Amino acid sequence: MPSKEIVKAKVYYASARVLKWTHGESLPGKLERLLKEAGLENRLHKDEAVAVKTHFGSHGAHRIVRPVFLRKVTEAVRAAGGVPFVTDTVRIKGLEYLEVANANGINQLSVGAPVVLADGIFGSDNVLLDAGEPLGQVAIASAIHDVPAMVVVSHVKGHINAGYAGAIKNLAMGGISGSHRTCGWKCGRGSMHTIGMGEFTWLEQKCELCYQCQEVCPLDCISFPDEKFEFDDEKCWRCGRCVRVCPTDAIEHEGADDETFMKGLSTAAKAVLSTFAPGKVLYVNFLLEIQPECDCMPGADVPVVQDLGLMLSDDLVAIEKASMDMISKAAPLPGSAASDCEIKPGHDVFETLNHKPGHIQVQECERLGLGTQNYELVELTD
Ligand code: SF4
Ligand code: SF4
Repeated sequence: MPSKEIVKAKVYYASARVLKWTHGESLPGKLERLLKEAGLENRLHKDEAVAVKTHFGSHGAHRIVRPVFLRKVTEAVRAAGGVPFVTDTVRIKGLEYLEVANANGINQLSVGAPVVLADGIFGSDNVLLDAGEPLGQVAIASAIHDVPAMVVVSHVKGHINAGYAGAIKNLAMGGISGSHRTCGWKCGRGSMHTIGMGEFTWLEQKCELCYQCQEVCPLDCISFPDEKFEFDDEKCWRCGRCVRVCPTDAIEHEGADDETFMKGLSTAAKAVLSTFAPGKVLYVNFLLEIQPECDCMPGADVPVVQDLGLMLSDDLVAIEKASMDMISKAAPLPGSAASDCEIKPGHDVFETLNHKPGHIQVQECERLGLGTQNYELVELTD
């Protein structure tokens, strides 16, 4: 009996190295060439709206996907007959988040398309879908829920909870609102952090009253009347930033165990993708300025490995596996968090740094039918 051929998903790759001084060999030029490989004209209908989903960054976290690259994506969408808009969900107060995008260089003039908040300026414009276990109902940003096609543009980096953050996290945390009008944060992205729990405990004896938690809270939930911690339980999205920045671990946040959290991420990604027909979502991963933490933190550390390049695929699992594999083969950069931890090439840099099993996201997405870990890297040549 002939053996069954394993079909490998194609992941197109362009190295960050520039060995010839031509535009085609520059990274923006290589992105243009990668996007041609995607055959967007065969994926889009004429005048179809296309979301270009990215992360706008935050005050202080500047290592996001740069506007010059977003513009290449919107130009490619237009050339294929689509009508692009660049979008993200509300992470802080919506109008302030648009200011953050602008300060980071993302605006209509720079990216060549409208820049809109996918869930409205209050983050409450969303649609509930049942994601199944372990999340239950999730509030999907309406612009992502309703749009027929999407290019998911992800800056690959580390993440305190996910370990590794790429396209899966961009879809899961980035496609779902912070809260819903009726079921609040429990149907929002905080549900991935907590899986139905979410109690906060303030350990007074550990608190140094530095107020960093209060400063970092995107919703002004935290106050210190009479030097005692208080937070607005109703308003809080359970984003976990206050816990993350506390220098003395004085705030404890009841949350999901690592495996459940990763499975929650994958389940949310599947829910976000459930409204798209096959072939209507494309992924571009930027393996540049690969820093240890998320772009929503109030700062960005130096990269842990050298710039590696760009990847493009229509297979979510394949592009994430290829990105993780390439990062773990890269040498840690001197003077970075990776060299501080004496990480060696071949070790999973983000699992070692963040002590989180990030690979579970990829395995779970494969189990949920969102793609395959069997990939073929197709490198862009001259
Ligand atoms: S988790 Fe902390 S930082 Fe986030 S909204 Fe709630 S109180 Fe604010
Ligand atoms: S960040 Fe931690 S130490 Fe600082 S005020 Fe908040 S709870 Fe206290």
